[in-house]
Amino acid sequence: MSATPVVEVSHLRKTYGEKVAVDDVSFAVQPGEIFGILGPNGAGKTTTVECLAGLRHADGGATRVLGVDTQADPGAVRGLLGVQLQESALHDKITVGEAVRLFASFYPHPADVGELLDLLDLAPHQGVQYAKLSGGQKQRLSIALALVGSPRVAILDELTTGLDPQARRSTWDLVERVRSTGVTILLVTHFMEEAERLCDRLVVIDAGRVVAAGTPLELVDGLDDTRTVQLRLPEVDAARGREALARLAASHPDVQSVDDAGSGVVAVTGTRRVLFAVVPALAQVDVLPDDVRTVTRSLEDVFVAVTGRSYDPDAAPAAVGSGAPAADGAEGVGRRRDLTPTADRGDRS
Ligand code: ATP
Repeated sequence: MSATPVVEVSHLRKTYGEKVAVDDVSFAVQPGEIFGILGPNGAGKTTTVECLAGLRHADGGATRVLGVDTQADPGAVRGLLGVQLQESALHDKITVGEAVRLFASFYPHPADVGELLDLLDLAPHQGVQYAKLSGGQKQRLSIALALVGSPRVAILDELTTGLDPQARRSTWDLVERVRSTGVTILLVTHFMEEAERLCDRLVVIDAGRVVAAGTPLELVDGLDDTRTVQLRLPEVDAARGREALARLAASHPDVQSVDDAGSGVVAVTGTRRVLFAVVPALAQVDVLPDDVRTVTRSLEDVFVAVTGRSYDPDAAPAAVGSGAPAADGAEGVGRRRDLTPTADRGDRS
C-alpha cells in the first residue's frame, strides 16, 4: 500500500519492572482501515495501544499518529485520536446525553452530539443513567465518547468482551458504520472471529511479540496446503463407507488420513484435491453421505501454526520476562481504565 500511514508503531518496547510486556512490536495502519491487534490475554495489546495513545512511556521504539510522535508530544494527538479503553469508568448517575455533551466540551472541534447519538443508536437512550444501560449500550456509549472529539483515528479495546452474541454482532455493524464515516480504526481484540469478520489487516501478538501480520485471508492462505473433508455417513452404510475411505488413505496420493470426528462423522485429511478422491471412492461402494463439509481454516489455525500451541484467549502468556509488577507503583495491576481524554492524563509512566 502506498498511502502515508495514519498510525506507525516501530520497534516498540515496554517493560513493567522486570516484566517485558511489549518486545519489538512494529506495524503501520493505512487511512480508512480497520486494523486489528489480536492476541490472548496478557499478550501486550493494551500496553501497545496505551503507548501509542501517549498514556504510557515506552522504553524503546517510536509511536506516531498522523506523523505526531505520541511519546514526545502526547498532548498533540488530542483531537486526532479517540481512545476507548477496557472498562470505562463513568459516574452511575450521569445520563448518556450528559456524558456525551460533557466529553464534547473537552474538545476544540467536537462532533455534532445529535449525529453521534444517531450513529451509535443512542438517541432513544439519551436520558438513561449510565448504571441502567445494558452492556451493549455501555459499549456504544464508550465508542461515542471515543469519537466525540471528531478524531481521525479511533482505538477500540476489547469492545465486545462480556456482550452476548447478538449484541456483539450489532457492535460489529456499528464499527463498520463508524469506519464508513472516514475514521481509521485500531481494534484490539482477543476474539478470533471478531478479527476475521472486521479487520482489513491485523497483527497477531503473543507474549509481547508480533507473530503474524497480514490480511485475514493472507494469513490463512499462508498455512500449509492440507484440507479436511468431514462426512456424515448413513448408519446402515457407515462400516462400508469407512472401509472404502481407509483403503483410499492407504493408496491414494491426495489422501493422508481418515479419522473419527465423533457423532458419526468421518474426517478425511489430504491435499487440496482430497474431495476429488473421496467422492468417487464412496460412489464406487454406493455410499451417499448425509452431509459433506470442507473444514474452513481460520485465524485460530494460523495461531496454532505460528506458536505451536492451541489458542486459549484466557491463558497466561508464555513468559518474555519475569512477572514482577511495576516497581514504581505508578501503574498498578488493576485493570480499570478511565475515559479521560488523552491530554488530561498526567500519570504516564
Ligand atoms: P488483556 O486483554 O488481558 O488486557 P493484553 O494483551 O492487553 O491483555 P497487556 O494488558 O498489555 O496485555 O499486558 C501485557 C503484560 O503486561 C501482561 O503480562 C500483564 O500482566 C502485564 N501488565 C500489564 N499492565 C501492567 C502493570 N501496570 N504492571 C505490571 N504488569 C503489567
